Amino acid sequence: MNNYMDVLITTSSTLDGAKIKQYFGIVSAHVVAGTNVFSDFTAGLSDFFGGRSATYADQISRIKAQALTDLKYEAIELGANAVISVSIDVDEVSGGGKSMFMITAYGTAVTLDRVYIENSEDTKTDLVTGNVVADVIEKRILIEQHKSAPLEMTNDEWCRLLELEVPEMGDFIEWEMISSGLKEERLFAYAASIDFDDSVALGYQLFEKASKESELRTIQKVINKMVLVDYHRSISLLKSKSDSLTHKKTVLNTIIKPKRLYSSDDINTLNDLIGTVEASFPTIAVFRKKKGLLGKEKELWECMCSQKENDVDDSFCKSCGRDKQGFKAEETTPKKAIKYLSMIKETLKETLPNQ
Ligand SMILES: [Zn+2]
Repeated sequence: MNNYMDVLITTSSTLDGAKIKQYFGIVSAHVVAGTNVFSDFTAGLSDFFGGRSATYADQISRIKAQALTDLKYEAIELGANAVISVSIDVDEVSGGGKSMFMITAYGTAVTLDRVYIENSEDTKTDLVTGNVVADVIEKRILIEQHKSAPLEMTNDEWCRLLELEVPEMGDFIEWEMISSGLKEERLFAYAASIDFDDSVALGYQLFEKASKESELRTIQKVINKMVLVDYHRSISLLKSKSDSLTHKKTVLNTIIKPKRLYSSDDINTLNDLIGTVEASFPTIAVFRKKKGLLGKEKELWECMCSQKENDVDDSFCKSCGRDKQGFKAEETTPKKAIKYLSMIKETLKETLPNQ
């Protein structure tokens, strides 16, 4: 045997049905990835929207594959045809503010009964590939490194954790949301990695929790760009956040985009939603009468910004430009949203096959 492809690699120390004919001792391979290898990490942000973070994940897997290949060559040189009890260590070596990764693969080189090697494709029930093992190790290291300070994670590390399907990601999301402002790309990456229904639930759950305007803006972007709009949840939000105009305005901005999929149920839901929008934005201007010089009464309205002298016929406040419901001209007003929702409803009646 002289092809490294034929060298069997396993993390187990024994292989069912395989007779170890000879032990050659421990073999190891080291691959060090310098900072230059990782230098384009931060430049790879645009990869998020296309196909994940190619840079980081690719580099890590390439380095691991390199280490395992080197290990196989070590085995061949000894005349072995397998390496058992394989482990991979990933160490971060840092100094002078820079860090490098050192990946070490090691195991015991042996000669297995030829029959086993040839049949291993069919009998790999208790085998695990080096890549799987390496992923688990990498996952543990990343979690260990970041659980106390998840914000220090780079976006590539974040994506890598998503690829590794770390269940703890949910905790990181919570933490991000609540304590430090939203990280938009991370939210996109996470929402894209979970089921559609789960990402809808997540989007609206965060919507409920968010308090800052910047957070709400990010959530709105995620909901719109990923088409997570949900009418039932929008109705609930309008009701539960009845005292937060900022939340309610954000709901309006999300419902003026179509949903991902419509069914005939949506026609009734749209009626409910339109009714809820109508009821959710009362006039907040305070009207009062003022006696003019000639004893003539003049009707005025006081804006939410506390400008008191707006004439009753003025649509917008002369100080802040808001209308009697608290909307500026360029914003999505309840009226605009209702118009849009009604158009959707009419269009559904025309286009749904069973209407
Ligand atoms: Zn005003």
